[in-house]
Amino acid sequence: QKLKKVCIIGSGNWGSAIAKIVGKNVLRLSHFENRVTMYVYEEIINGKKLTEIINETHENVKYLPGHKLPENVVAVPDVVDAAREADILIFVVPHQFIRTLCSTLLGKIKPTAIGLSLIKGFDHAEGGGIELISHIISKYLKIQCAVLMGANLAGEVADEKFCETTIGCRDSRLAPLLRDIIQTDYFRVVVVDDEDAVEICGALKNIVACGAGFVDGLGLGDNTKAAVIRLGLMEMIKFVDVFYPGSKLATFFESCGVADLITTCYGGRNRKVSEAFVRSKKSIKQLEDEMLNGQKLQGPITAEEVNYMLKTKRMEDNFPLFTAIHRICTGDVKAEELISCIKNHPEHM
Ligand code: NAD
Ligand code: 13P
Ligand code: CA
Repeated sequence: QKLKKVCIIGSGNWGSAIAKIVGKNVLRLSHFENRVTMYVYEEIINGKKLTEIINETHENVKYLPGHKLPENVVAVPDVVDAAREADILIFVVPHQFIRTLCSTLLGKIKPTAIGLSLIKGFDHAEGGGIELISHIISKYLKIQCAVLMGANLAGEVADEKFCETTIGCRDSRLAPLLRDIIQTDYFRVVVVDDEDAVEICGALKNIVACGAGFVDGLGLGDNTKAAVIRLGLMEMIKFVDVFYPGSKLATFFESCGVADLITTCYGGRNRKVSEAFVRSKKSIKQLEDEMLNGQKLQGPITAEEVNYMLKTKRMEDNFPLFTAIHRICTGDVKAEELISCIKNHPEHM
């Protein structure tokens, strides 16, 4: 039997942390080829190409400094070169880049390849709704695409601190293969078949994280933050119920649901930038550029995608927390008004 080849598309903070895991796992597993390609969006750091730095020092000095990548992970600046021969494609770029990447890859990958998306976010669908990133990948590239989402701050995963994650995969023949390349003794995988709900949790929790950051910026307390997290969870459940009926409530109790909400609302970059937004009065975009060293924020643009859909469907009032967070991000509403916006939440009626 031919060995399976793995390609990681993306090399940011999370992409690099997952490359460390996958790179080590394929060495251990006999049915995977040892060489793993990693598509790196090329940039110049102190006069040198990032791909060269990674291939020489085995460290992504910009997005995951201080952690060595296994030497069998090879940085490749051309996404087609990286992906051409792969049997498994792990997608882990900020979602704003996925459509361009897919059009570059169209017709250039193995027709039998399978995808695993680690991307937390939505894109807009033609006609006013949202489109799940894994669905975009499936449609554009005509491949199956499962998802992986969880309470997984990249730095902590790279430090090998214990955590859990959730793989959403409808195809039970595929699930063990995906679990094998991801699972370690400190990174525990639970597989569920509720693919869409897993992915939606991963996207929506970034909106709630902005709310948690506003709470911190306003100097409100832990009780208020807990209320925002709870109301956020209720809106996440309602969102799935209304727009993706048939999903399971149990999925929200997996790592991708309540656990990711908690970790992101305490330790994530969406929280961090949103707190600074309240304290500094600079724009979100400016703070993203100043505070994150090239890392990208997903919460505010996801809030915008969701709001666009809710507005078209005249459902903004049914999701008052998501709506308030979006309006605060755009500057239409002051952060100070967060609480008055959600005081009359349907949960309290
Ligand atoms: P990141 O935000 O750290 O880095 C940004 C990446 O985008 C860099 O690799 C950069 O080279 C790349 N980039 C910049 N311009 C580009 C372009 N024009 N085309 C293609 N790539 C470009 O990335 P990340 O943290 O790996 O995030 C990827 C996904 O993983 C996101 O959906 C995020 O929500 C999710 N995620 C992140 C974490 C985390 O802790 N960082 C954890 C779980 C999930
Ligand atoms: P942030 O993008 O807010 O840092 O969240 C990271 C994450 O998804 C942790 O699971
Ligand atoms: Ca191997």
